Amino acid sequence: MTSARSIHVRGVVQGVGFRPFVFRLARERSLAGWVSNAEDGVRIHVEGAEEPLAAFLSDLTAQSPPAALILSLDVEPCQPAGLRDFTIRESRRNGRPSARISPDLPVCDECVGELFDPSDRRYLYPYINCANCGPRYSVIECLPYDRGNTTMRQWALDQFCAAQYNDPCDRRFHAQPVACPACGPRYEPAVEEIAGLLKAGAIVAIKGIGGYHLSCDARNAETVRALRKRKFRKEKPFAVMAANVAAARSIVELSSNAEMLLTSAARPIVLAPAIADLPEVAPANRELGVMLPYAPLHHLLFAAGAPLLLVMTSANRSSEPIAYQDEDARERLSGIADAFLVGQRPIARRVDDSLVRAGVFGPVILRRSRGYAPGAVATLPRDRPVLAVGADLKNAITLVVGGQAFVSQHIGDLDHYESLKSFRQTIADLAAMYDIDVKETLVAHDAHPQYASTAYALDLHGARRVAVQHHRAHIASVLAEREAWDTRVVGVSFDGTGYGDDGTIWGGEFFTGSMREGFERVLHLRPAMLPGGDAAARHPVQCAAGFLAQLSSLPDLTGPPFHFPARYRNGAQLVQKGLRTFQTTSVGRLFDAVAALVGFTRETTFEGQAAMWLEHIAQADASSGRYPFPIAGETLDFRPLLEAVVHDRQRGREPAAIARGFHRSVAAALCESASRLCEAHSIDTVALSGGVFQNELLLSDIKLLLPRVKIWTNAAVPPNDGGISLGQAAIACMNFLSQ
Ligand code: ZN
Ligand code: FE
Repeated sequence: MTSARSIHVRGVVQGVGFRPFVFRLARERSLAGWVSNAEDGVRIHVEGAEEPLAAFLSDLTAQSPPAALILSLDVEPCQPAGLRDFTIRESRRNGRPSARISPDLPVCDECVGELFDPSDRRYLYPYINCANCGPRYSVIECLPYDRGNTTMRQWALDQFCAAQYNDPCDRRFHAQPVACPACGPRYEPAVEEIAGLLKAGAIVAIKGIGGYHLSCDARNAETVRALRKRKFRKEKPFAVMAANVAAARSIVELSSNAEMLLTSAARPIVLAPAIADLPEVAPANRELGVMLPYAPLHHLLFAAGAPLLLVMTSANRSSEPIAYQDEDARERLSGIADAFLVGQRPIARRVDDSLVRAGVFGPVILRRSRGYAPGAVATLPRDRPVLAVGADLKNAITLVVGGQAFVSQHIGDLDHYESLKSFRQTIADLAAMYDIDVKETLVAHDAHPQYASTAYALDLHGARRVAVQHHRAHIASVLAEREAWDTRVVGVSFDGTGYGDDGTIWGGEFFTGSMREGFERVLHLRPAMLPGGDAAARHPVQCAAGFLAQLSSLPDLTGPPFHFPARYRNGAQLVQKGLRTFQTTSVGRLFDAVAALVGFTRETTFEGQAAMWLEHIAQADASSGRYPFPIAGETLDFRPLLEAVVHDRQRGREPAAIARGFHRSVAAALCESASRLCEAHSIDTVALSGGVFQNELLLSDIKLLLPRVKIWTNAAVPPNDGGISLGQAAIACMNFLSQ
């Protein structure tokens, strides 16, 4: 008795070896039918006896390829067509593509096995890959994902590779970047040579999957110091690539969750508590960022004798975007790298390493890029396309197609010309891949009138636009991830900088409401006057001048124990005269002010450094004190808090203890305010988002203090401005639900 099923699979099922997998499953069970790629996933027709059919269906989900992600599986009984065997049908294209573009995948175990098998044709070949692994997004130039549309197009397959590419039973069936030493691209010079140089203390520029890295021996303090000097990167931590999990364990404490992230298909950089001292790698930081090899080349380097712990940092000068084109890399890195290891396969677009942490509320993505982008993170309630252009710092964009919100790779700070170019290119790329005319989308942008991203949106003549307030977008990003359109929440956005409804700088905001009804600002940090605008974000003492101006009496902060530099006095004068000062409710800036009072009085060398330093020194303290940080009407009054900090410091209390007490005070004030708002508005859920919530110590304090309410944080997009575009897209969708 023959029965048949018609199956529709949605999710990441193209470019990940899904069709050959289905083919093998069906053939193993002597079932007939076909499998085909469609615009919206994979379609299967299968027929045969009832028992093997049932086994086929259960294995379809249980054994699917490692890189595949099945989001839905619709199975319908249908008429048997009397087919004799099972085939892979060529895909047809008749509508708008909504199939997912797979993120880049790490080299799989089988390929690593072949890489080190002397009898294999691809022995020691740095471009080995198969349908289960290898580059995707970083080699795709346009859709459909065929070899001719990838950066491998210039290398014709030889007979050996072609036979595998065309054999449905082979692991390399339709593996678009497939190649072998006889027909594919190469790396120059020899890997052994570079491994030797790294061992000897050289700095090497290495072309990877989504860009160039600068690499050196992480245990060689002198070399790492030289790298900092040449790269103009004074203190910002470097990531380390460890040869394997054991090598990673020698420098960081890996919880089981952290290890899961480390070995996950995205192979991100994982921030974990440092247990070894690697001087110069991450100065004044409790954590180290560690990742595992993900390209075959990395495995080759370690096997050839490179040090087991390598600094692997984005190849650029200072905060420029990562170099990914050969000529540009040669030029920009010539004064930094002692040698280059360069592969011939072009990189289609810049894709940085992703950065994650196993946080107290679950995994947090701090930079969402390689391995995650351009994956979909949520389904939004809208069929028509939406483009959300994000914010100007840590930019990433979101494109909504068929309700799927695809979030781009990390693009960076748009005040760099190169990043702005990437921003435009990324929008053009994703729109082209999904066959969308940007001018026909609903465009969401930040409410900041001076953002470059806002200017881009305003330039799109013909497009319908929505301006979204920065901190509402942060909160919406949390709710969009959970597809919670009706849940009423207290939304808390503690952040660095964002343009507020009243034109002032916000960043310490409490909202109540839901995605459907909108968010009302109900409480905020007491406003302070920030002297000198943007420069204040780089000078904690300048921030301090703005906040401290509101205290009734102050000691001389330029003397001991504070030792504030002259910049403080200048700032204080500006505030006094009301010159070049800007009103702010930013909690990020409050952290900076306290960091200054506790001892961070110099200029920062990267964004968020003073707050990170404050968290770092607070971690060392076990005291339990807390400062007053009262709610006064609709504001949180920071004055008693700062008075107490100044006083404590004067009487010689340890900076670590003050920093610890400050964290606890912020957590307590947040929890107290949120509890009151929950009660007053009958809400039981608190959503947290904004750059300040990258602070693990603060989150762990909050977790202790708010055991009875549900706390929602970001998991799929960053709590920093990297998550803004998702929130913008979600708010735009809700505003135009019926259109
Ligand atoms: Zn493979
Ligand atoms: Fe923000």
